[in-house]
Amino acid sequence: MRSRYSAYVLGETAYLAASWHPDYRPAELTPDPALRWLGLDVIAADERQARASVEFEARWLSDGRVDALHERSEFVREDGRWYYTRGDILPPTFTPWKPGRNEACPCGSGRKFKRCCEPRG
Ligand SMILES: [Zn+2]
Repeated sequence: MRSRYSAYVLGETAYLAASWHPDYRPAELTPDPALRWLGLDVIAADERQARASVEFEARWLSDGRVDALHERSEFVREDGRWYYTRGDILPPTFTPWKPGRNEACPCGSGRKFKRCCEPRG
């Protein structure tokens, strides 16, 4: 789960594809270049033999707005490896917000939002 999140952050589509169960994997994975991931919280995880589910909230910054994905992902283990199969989108636990232009950028760069990730006009 965390390694898949890291792969999203780094845009490593090869790893995302390899850790996606072939029966569920989309034909093409195209990361959104305008989206920056900000953090991941695992809310609950449950593992029983060859199946696991992980509920998480992943926050991102896109188009000048901070928002989050709340999902429960399902995994199966085959030949000792875990594969993502599918996920259910859960009700939002996060209120989207827009940083002020002079506030610190939520991406953590240390720069002001207007000098960093604020979309340009
Ligand atoms: Zn930024």
